[in-house]
Amino acid sequence: MNVLVLNCGSSSAKFAVIDPITSQQAVAGIAQRLGAPEASCDWVIDGTKHSRPIPGAHHEEALRAVVALLQELGLAESIVGVGHRVVHGGSRFASSMRITPEVIAKVEECVPLSPLHNPPNLLGIRIAQELFPRLPQIGVFDTAFHQTMPPVAYTYPVPHDWLDTHGVRRYGFHGTSHRFVAKQAVVQGQFDPHDHRLVTAHLGNGSSCAAVRDGLSVDTTMGLTPLEGVMMGTRSGSIDPAIIGYMATATGQSEQAVIDALNKKSGLLGVSGRSNDMRTLEQAAADGDVRAQLAIEIFCYVLAKAIAGLVVPLGRLDALVFTGGIGENSVLVREKVVGLLPFLGLTIDPVSNASHGRDRAGCITTRTRPQAMVVRTNEELMIAMDTAEIVQRG
Ligand code: AMP
Repeated sequence: MNVLVLNCGSSSAKFAVIDPITSQQAVAGIAQRLGAPEASCDWVIDGTKHSRPIPGAHHEEALRAVVALLQELGLAESIVGVGHRVVHGGSRFASSMRITPEVIAKVEECVPLSPLHNPPNLLGIRIAQELFPRLPQIGVFDTAFHQTMPPVAYTYPVPHDWLDTHGVRRYGFHGTSHRFVAKQAVVQGQFDPHDHRLVTAHLGNGSSCAAVRDGLSVDTTMGLTPLEGVMMGTRSGSIDPAIIGYMATATGQSEQAVIDALNKKSGLLGVSGRSNDMRTLEQAAADGDVRAQLAIEIFCYVLAKAIAGLVVPLGRLDALVFTGGIGENSVLVREKVVGLLPFLGLTIDPVSNASHGRDRAGCITTRTRPQAMVVRTNEELMIAMDTAEIVQRG
């Protein structure tokens, strides 16, 4: 049994065919630079990379090319359902859902909350419905896991009608990843599935942390949009909101232009003036680049403050879980962050920290209660598992 997982962005469509029972990935790929002459469909099968030009292809042609590829590979017949990543489900979805006209209408209502992501997600759903008319389509929402946050965590201290009339509240993102690694961490750390307190730190180009109590998200760092929270690759994370008006006036730019700079030119890139890529910055910092050093210091400092803050709703900490491209791979970031949190009972074990990573999950501290650990995330597998479960439920 296989599931086709689709993640449609504005100029790309990621796809994977996964067996949710064995976790085996038959093929994974991306159709990218859509709409451009150099558009291509790239995929990996058995560790070997392949690429096929699809010049000028938009989403529809690209997904047709994916279907043709799945037929060539003999996979098309084995697919029992299509799982779609949907970025913003607002307050309307607390779990993954079979896609119906009502579900599509609700996702459309969430477009103002995520104007860049929800429209291509919806486009992907519409095309997949046409290409696979007999297969169930399932929506898996980045926001759904955080719908268990209590009002004290999701309500902004702003005029109340902003929430009632405009839906201004904290929703949180990366929910599929936080849910996946929290489940893995409970198994790996041998915690009680009904009594555990975790902080999960998904650190990649986009980064967020979540407080997970007994399998449920009780708080998280991202908010109405993925701009809030910790420092990221190109996003500032939380700042004084008055900076937006101040900089608009000071530079004569529109507020939207300032917000764009907070999304695309800030974070690691903004502080370092060099790169949003942690690998590049680690190298530059080691070579003596002072701004790269400062960018890494701020990244770790802001992160440690957020992690400590998320222990408030938990009351105690059993594990701090590192995941995502930086969390799984950066020995330096893990060492610095844990080094800022001795009062939580965490002490890094340098040997374990250096020997664990993306391909080797495990504890990186001297003690196991509480512990810091590395867990590899797998959002596609989580989407495939949700899809299979809903398909089997009928
Ligand atoms: P993601 O968005 O989850 O793919 O993560 C991308 C981030 O992970 C980038 O900042 C990469 O530089 C970072 N990353 C990947 N590998 C490493 C590594 N070996 N050391 C440090 N950072 C890494």
